[in-house]
Amino acid sequence: MAYDPKKANPTLIIPEAPAKITRKKKKPKEIAVVIADNCTGCEACVPFCPVDCIEHTPRDTSDRVNVVIPNVQIRLDECIGCKICVNVCERMAWDAIEMWPTESVEELFGTRRVNSLFL
Ligand code: SF4
Ligand code: SF4
Repeated sequence: MAYDPKKANPTLIIPEAPAKITRKKKKPKEIAVVIADNCTGCEACVPFCPVDCIEHTPRDTSDRVNVVIPNVQIRLDECIGCKICVNVCERMAWDAIEMWPTESVEELFGTRRVNSLFL
């Protein structure tokens, strides 16, 4: 089988972040949602988000013996729906991020997104 550099190094197929970071004015059709049960908390996706809206959740240290590494979470009002994190997680970690229609996310979280803001 021919050597495929993209398979050998998955980061080659992950697009570069734009030089200038701006806020999207229009509401995206889809928003990235972390499937918490699948997320290992490895944070591989965090530096790839062009708008820096993936963050770790606070670590519960109440049980000092079994400290669970928490999953990451996405600030839904800032996600521009670029899908980069989905590709990163799929290729470098696990399959823990899905793109959901914005309307479904609004319904699920009982909120409404107007342009770039959730109300
Ligand atoms: S790359 Fe995937 S598994 Fe790792 S923190 Fe991000 S969503 Fe979770
Ligand atoms: S879809 Fe794009 S903007 Fe949204 S969390 Fe993933 S990388 Fe960030």
